[in-house]
Amino acid sequence: MSEPSEPSGDMFMNPVAGFSVTFKAMFKKRLTEQYPETPKVTAPRFHGRHQLNRHPDGLEKCIGCELCAWACPADAIYVEGADNTDEERYSPGERYGRVYQINYARCILCGLCIEACPTRALTMTNDFELANTTRASLIYTKDELLAGLEEGMVDSPHAIFPGMDEQDYYRGLVSEAAPGTERQKAVSKGEADKGVDA
Ligand code: SF4
Ligand code: SF4
Repeated sequence: MSEPSEPSGDMFMNPVAGFSVTFKAMFKKRLTEQYPETPKVTAPRFHGRHQLNRHPDGLEKCIGCELCAWACPADAIYVEGADNTDEERYSPGERYGRVYQINYARCILCGLCIEACPTRALTMTNDFELANTTRASLIYTKDELLAGLEEGMVDSPHAIFPGMDEQDYYRGLVSEAAPGTERQKAVSKGEADKGVDA
């Protein structure tokens, strides 16, 4: 029967070395994020939730061309365009985006769709809180993606600015809603739908 081996020096020194790492870490700057109490501030060009933008008078910039959907590598965008009419006009030109959906269960927030958009209708916000518990709630509809109304805008549909044409909108000649229209206070479309005073 062999004799029990003598304890080596390493058996005592290894725990001391381990605790020295712990001790040094106690004096380092903490990296813990206090989320969600203190939300992280993202970089200005962070790729977050998308937004469908409006012209300064409230008409929509989306023309329903589907280029964003074709550019998407994850097949996350669904668009159906439709014709504007004089009675019901959503954008200055011939067409507008009648149905617009982004599936955030698929989207990888790469930004290729916003590069493809010819009218700058589609951009990305810094909002990263997209997690949810059902697949259906991850499909954002046009109502959820459309930008809120800024002070002085009028919600679509409404007529084109008098004396202007589609090109004038892109030249930046329309800077506010037409004179005499009932302009709304700043309120998002979702809030307006829920009956918040406009
Ligand atoms: S960010 Fe990328 S993955 Fe997401 S919808 Fe746009 S193109 Fe598709
Ligand atoms: S968001 Fe831009 S690319 Fe997509 S359908 Fe509208 S205008 Fe076309």
